Amino acid sequence: MNTTLMKEKLQTEKVTLEAELAEHGRFNAETGNWTGSAIANSSEGADVNVAADTMEELGTNSAIVEELEARYKNVLHALQKIEEGSYGMCEVGGEEISEERLAANPAARTCVEHAA
Ligand SMILES: [Zn+2]
Repeated sequence: MNTTLMKEKLQTEKVTLEAELAEHGRFNAETGNWTGSAIANSSEGADVNVAADTMEELGTNSAIVEELEARYKNVLHALQKIEEGSYGMCEVGGEEISEERLAANPAARTCVEHAA
């Protein structure tokens, strides 16, 4: 297991997610969570995919922010596991997660069998 490479990947994803969260939501220091900001009424927000995903969200980015935040927390969790030396272990059964799975999703918490 090359955790150095995984750490790099996770840190890159962390920075990307932070930028996306800042773009679509705002951080609430009181709760430690992100909330979706109102969708800007400008041509800048003309992202077709995002628009389609948030069509039913009453003009806020809450759905996309919720998903980004979940990914973000998984990334932070995975980085913490690298520090603790438990990275790459399934959180349900304790067995090693395949490198193939981690390559596809460095923030995976469980093996394929125990994936929700
Ligand atoms: Zn497992």
